[in-house]
Amino acid sequence: YYSSNTVAFLDGEFVPAEQATCGVYAQSLHYGYAVFEGIRAYGTPAGTRIFKAEEHYQRLQYSCRCVGLPLEYSVEELTRISYEVLERNHLTDAYIRPLVYAATPNMSLKAANRSNLLIAVWEWGKYLGDQLLRLTVSPYERPNPKAVPIEAKVAGHYVNSIIASTEAKQRGYDEALLLDLHGYVAEGPGANFFFERNGELYTAPQGSILRGITRNTVLDLAREAGIPVHEQLFRPEELRTASAAFMTGTAAEVIGVASVDDIVFEKPFQHSIGGMLASHYQALVTGQAVSRSASFAGQPR
Ligand code: PMP
Repeated sequence: YYSSNTVAFLDGEFVPAEQATCGVYAQSLHYGYAVFEGIRAYGTPAGTRIFKAEEHYQRLQYSCRCVGLPLEYSVEELTRISYEVLERNHLTDAYIRPLVYAATPNMSLKAANRSNLLIAVWEWGKYLGDQLLRLTVSPYERPNPKAVPIEAKVAGHYVNSIIASTEAKQRGYDEALLLDLHGYVAEGPGANFFFERNGELYTAPQGSILRGITRNTVLDLAREAGIPVHEQLFRPEELRTASAAFMTGTAAEVIGVASVDDIVFEKPFQHSIGGMLASHYQALVTGQAVSRSASFAGQPR
């Protein structure tokens, strides 16, 4: 993620990443009390562009509000700083990781009255690779949305992701598929899930999922292509009637799913709606195509 000449933004300054450290008495470390984003920048004909910077930084602000972490930066400032971190690291195709946390030594369970901000960047290939995924329904559920603000990207929520993903891999699968507390399919540990049936697209509605920005982009692209989309609850058994499936996320992009446990999807991914959307998505983020609804918010400095 960093080497001796990597630069990060930390609390108002651009510093060598090696010096961006946090003490072990930090409230965030003890309680998972931090929020973050995962954003990507791409090389486009117009130069380096951060895809949907505005949406990501609005979600970061929303996550801060959900857990009561103050954030002193506007969306515009966060976007400008992100472009500068990329530039100082001579990076174009890169992953951007903003983290808002409470470094103050504090063992209380009271919301922090000040926060710290890290913006780090690194080169990161597709997070789930580019081979079709073999998923398994996890014995772990997504967190109860009445217990935690599930639509916020809270660090502590990712303990659920880590244990679900690790358990799936221990059983020989590539990734987990998690249900909500009522047994409906929710999402993966770090990506949303879609399936195709009779030329139409289905995905879980908001409620027990992180409403992915890639999910929104893909829904927009599908609607623009005239494909009916359904945001509705479904149980894993319903996947027996699906012909194809895929996952979406900023880090994972659009990645095909070969199977969920013993359910094998018949349609070759490249001929499925997901395959078509995967190429539209690549064209969009790299500025080779435009979309009515999906845009690059935030300009470089
Ligand atoms: N669900 C979870 C649990 C995630 O961590 C992510 C990655 N941020 C997603 C879905 C996909 O969200 P996005 O498309 O905004 O990256």
